[in-house]
Amino acid sequence: MTLNTATRQGFRYLGNKNTKEVHDLYNEGNSCGINKIVMAGNAVRFVPDTLAQARMEGYDNCHYCIDGSKR
Ligand SMILES: [Zn+2]
Repeated sequence: MTLNTATRQGFRYLGNKNTKEVHDLYNEGNSCGINKIVMAGNAVRFVPDTLAQARMEGYDNCHYCIDGSKR
C-alpha cells in the first residue's frame, strides 16, 4: 500500500504519485527534485518500504537514483 507523506524523513523509497516514479532517498540525485515533490503534495511512501512494493504499486524507477526505468 502507499501512504501520503508530508515529510521525507524516516523511510527510504519515496514515490511521486503525479508521475508514478519511485526515488531511492539513499541515492538521491539533484535531478530527482525530492523537495519539490514533497512541497507539491505529491509524495507517498510504501508499506513495506521496499522497491518491490513500489513496483507492485505501478511505480517506475527514477532514472537518476535507481535506474532501470522501463520508460
Ligand atoms: Zn530519483
